[in-house]
Amino acid sequence: MKKRTVSMAKGIMLMCIGLLIFSSTSFASSKTYLKTKPASVLKLIVNGNNKFVHKHSKNYFLPYQTSQHPVITMITCSDARVQTNIFNFDPINKIFVIRNIGNQIRISEGSIDYGIYHLHTPILLILGHVHCGAIKAAMSNYSDETTAIVNEIDKLHLPLLLAKAKGNFSQRWLENVQANVDYQVAFCVKRYSRLIKKGKLVVVGAVYDFINAYKRGFGRVIITNINGMTNVKKIKHSPLLKRISKKLKNTVVDRI
Ligand SMILES: [Zn+2]
Repeated sequence: MKKRTVSMAKGIMLMCIGLLIFSSTSFASSKTYLKTKPASVLKLIVNGNNKFVHKHSKNYFLPYQTSQHPVITMITCSDARVQTNIFNFDPINKIFVIRNIGNQIRISEGSIDYGIYHLHTPILLILGHVHCGAIKAAMSNYSDETTAIVNEIDKLHLPLLLAKAKGNFSQRWLENVQANVDYQVAFCVKRYSRLIKKGKLVVVGAVYDFINAYKRGFGRVIITNINGMTNVKKIKHSPLLKRISKKLKNTVVDRI
């Protein structure tokens, strides 16, 4: 009995020492990580690009060395959770990307004009996303932010005012994200009406859903608006989606 108690005590002691070593090691490493964060990030950039260089031959770069030929002009939020790899194709030379907080046209009109008037992309994709911090800020008090941030969030007031979202905060947040996309689409439909009428441009509004708010799968890009059309049934019947299977159309076209 006595022996067992001693060995149990020994075991507990060893466990405590082990825990102490483990916790002090993880504390030290997290501290080191914080201290060397920029260096670690630079390593990530340089090493990552080094792998990219070795993975691609000269032939990969030849088609676009003298000019770019994107097929999509995309305006999306700067949010790091939204990236072009969600489309699962190599975005190089395919997407002309413009980003700002809240995927707002008015902040980047010149860049979007460039994609439409100079690069002649047939699609202008306005991609909002769930849990957008810019929309959340516009729904809250953001007076403590810098003047530059305040100025950019101020421009979201009109889309949110027109949305008239109802329900609890998270419901209104999602509704406002979608309404902001609608607002930006309407702005572009007016701005590029001549090209749209000629069939040379289609403005698509969509929401990237990484929380499965629309219940169509985590990471789904939900199409919510085409050329200002917001009726789900009409969007699904649009000839613009004729190359997409009925099943997939029923999955991706939706509105809350
Ligand atoms: Zn955002």
